Amino acid sequence: MPNIDLHCHLDGSFSIEHIKNTLNLPIGDDELKSKLTAPADCQSLAQYLTCFDIPISCLQTKEHIKSGILDLLKQASIDDTKYIEIRFAPSCSVNENQSYQDIYEACIDGIKTGKELYDVDSNIIVCAMRHHDLSTNITMLKNARSYLGLGICALDLAGDEAAFGNEQFVDLFKEAKSLGMPYTIHSGECGSVQNIKIALELGAKRVGHGIALIKDPSLMKDVKKSHLGLELCPTSNYQTRAISPNDTYPLRAFLDAGLLATVNTDNRTVSDTTMTKELKLCKDKLNINKEDFITIYKNSVEISFADDNIKNNLLKLV
Ligand SMILES: [Zn+2]
Repeated sequence: MPNIDLHCHLDGSFSIEHIKNTLNLPIGDDELKSKLTAPADCQSLAQYLTCFDIPISCLQTKEHIKSGILDLLKQASIDDTKYIEIRFAPSCSVNENQSYQDIYEACIDGIKTGKELYDVDSNIIVCAMRHHDLSTNITMLKNARSYLGLGICALDLAGDEAAFGNEQFVDLFKEAKSLGMPYTIHSGECGSVQNIKIALELGAKRVGHGIALIKDPSLMKDVKKSHLGLELCPTSNYQTRAISPNDTYPLRAFLDAGLLATVNTDNRTVSDTTMTKELKLCKDKLNINKEDFITIYKNSVEISFADDNIKNNLLKLV
């Protein structure tokens, strides 16, 4: 069955080969892989995030941004992913030699070329960063707004959720709302139900992960009423200890409650995963059946930031 990936970080998903070619690293494949992939006994989200140090160096020129997007779209095509929303933080790529305009044009070039080469539709979600100041995040956002609908589809907020809660970003999302930029917010990845509540109040269309929602049945009802989309990433959630191996993963419960739950990769390289692996995990361990997979696919189409043309084409595939 074809699949859709709505939550995939570009810098967490480069192939080993792409990173080696881009950075010319004098290092063996196994050693590089160990630096890029979170260990199975990873202790926290903060430790998981250290795997991004090397990949961010691969996003410092227009050519590298384009080739990075192509590297991911090639992987997606092999994985039978028909549509992918690729996210990264443009403010970590802006430098004296490349402006936001350069970055966004390289993104658009990458997704257009990727469609021609690999027949995968895609859009870019721009991530504001929790540890960046408001002015940096707003400058990134305003520049991105000019490209909305041309390949840029939404805003996200990424980084250490436990250290910087959603309540600190009210002004950022007010600005996004006034600019007409839709947004998803990483929320409820580290156990905070409160962050999901705030995301809902701030007008998010979706939340990244959202697994803490299972702790609050009343908020689940509000989430259902508001059609808030949930971007679950099972392998990543186990790795970052967002869920312990003995806990029941909430996908089954979210589907049973009629929530718009979806399954995504988060970081293909850091989590050593693919959509195929995620869906297999759902089938083998999370009690997800064939009918559920169709629901998950349709949920992904419904909550995606794609235009109607792409959405209609995606619906024809199931
Ligand atoms: Zn994420």
